[in-house]
Amino acid sequence: MIEIKNYIGGKLCAARSGSVLTGQNPADGSDIWHCPDSDAADVGAAVQAASEAFGSWKKFDVSKRSSILLRIADIIESKNDELAELESKDTGKPVWLCKEVDIPRSAANFRFFAKAVTQYHSETYDMGQRGFNYTLRDPLGVVGCISPWNLPLYLLSWKIAPALAAGNTVVAKPSEVTPLSAFYLSEICKKAGLPEGVLNICHGFGDKVGQALIDHPGVKAVSFTGGTLTGKKIAAACASRLIPCSLELGGKNAALVYADCEFDHTVNELVRSCFTNQGQICLCTERILVEESIYEKFKTAFISRTSKLKVGDPTCSESDLGALVSGDHTRKVMDWVKTAESEGATILFGGKNVKIEGLVGHFLEPTVIEGLSNACHINQEEVFGPVVTLQKFSNLDESVNLANGTRYGLSATIWSGSLKTCHEVAAKLQVGIVWVNSWLLRDLRTPFGGMKQSGLGREGGRDALDFFTESKNVCIHYDKL
Ligand code: NAD
Repeated sequence: MIEIKNYIGGKLCAARSGSVLTGQNPADGSDIWHCPDSDAADVGAAVQAASEAFGSWKKFDVSKRSSILLRIADIIESKNDELAELESKDTGKPVWLCKEVDIPRSAANFRFFAKAVTQYHSETYDMGQRGFNYTLRDPLGVVGCISPWNLPLYLLSWKIAPALAAGNTVVAKPSEVTPLSAFYLSEICKKAGLPEGVLNICHGFGDKVGQALIDHPGVKAVSFTGGTLTGKKIAAACASRLIPCSLELGGKNAALVYADCEFDHTVNELVRSCFTNQGQICLCTERILVEESIYEKFKTAFISRTSKLKVGDPTCSESDLGALVSGDHTRKVMDWVKTAESEGATILFGGKNVKIEGLVGHFLEPTVIEGLSNACHINQEEVFGPVVTLQKFSNLDESVNLANGTRYGLSATIWSGSLKTCHEVAAKLQVGIVWVNSWLLRDLRTPFGGMKQSGLGREGGRDALDFFTESKNVCIHYDKL
């Protein structure tokens, strides 16, 4: 049993109340950790520690801040296999995926922002003979970073790294479902020489710890990734205190497949985009829209390719899909499949639990559904599991209308050999991220975030550093100098 602790003022400590939560490995049901069931008292102590650390951290030479973050990246990288096994135990996802994606990307987040901040610069505006303006960018102070369970260390580090690089101190709240890798990050930060109080991590429930964090008067901004409903609560709390918030929320991402696409590549990449991480990535494709002239051919090939995926023990390198994160989440995903059936859907493939010998966890078949209009529930609401629907379209306008026809606007993919089609469709899509003939090809310099109900603000590159700093313009009038 792993005894997870909060990380406050450089010390690893239990919740002040002494209360703990117990967590299970979603693949085999065994108890694997106790974690602090923190409350407002723990958040108060963490904000206090972060406030005390802010004065000196913001004055650190940028190269010194950068070198500490680079050390954190190096240590994460050196512990890749160990962290990957922990992340897999906590989430149910395959170990190989954690080794190849989750943990390397967490190291890359620290490394990227450690370097980016050394190139971060502000503007000047020349007023000719009269004077000039220059803009300072100051860190905000103590900021709150709240993250979800689907990519635990990857998404936590995506927020913490730019916040720290820009000179803020942080109180982070990882998901109560998957706190393990954040606990190990605390130890890594100590080892890397991060000064006490610069990063603080409080574990526990969202409505206790998360709420206390966003309501705390010492917190100057909140960066949140999670569900749209939670995001709205956070936006309301931040609005009432007039502090900035950045929200990365849910999606209902469409793939638009045109008849002139490179067929085999499209089928293979779309299978990956639907089922990687058991479909539990905000960017996963949940709706595939196919031009009617190739619909039947695409359907046959897609199902054939999907049927080759292996659902299995996350520790086996042959498993393409592991377990879903929890029993509760698995039931929600299955409820969506049942709702789709009750609305007249045809389940083309999957739709059932999978029994894995020796394991009692939450395994689902990759599931492919057709026969529903875009207005049906499963084509409107985020499932966040290994479930995708197929719909057909007859022309470009119809494909764009279907893709845009939900309240979400996170990402979309376009599959076509025509540059004209790709440009035209990309310009018309109401989403924050478009991939053409690819999926999840990431460049950390680019703006990342959603339109409509998928979010507010952008993360990544300069946008993240801008969010975690506030500009102050200084105007110099030459005449009076
Ligand atoms: P969630 O909204 O339930 O929880 C996210 C985090 O918010 C958790 O740490 C939780 O404890 C905390 N929280 C809950 N209530 C809170 C409150 N009242 N105040 C403050 N914090 C609170 O989401 P989840 O189930 O953990 O994650 C899945 C969702 O995250 C999906 O909708 C998915 O699309 C979304 N997501 C979005 C992105 C993106 O970049 N757009 C990335 C990953 C996941």
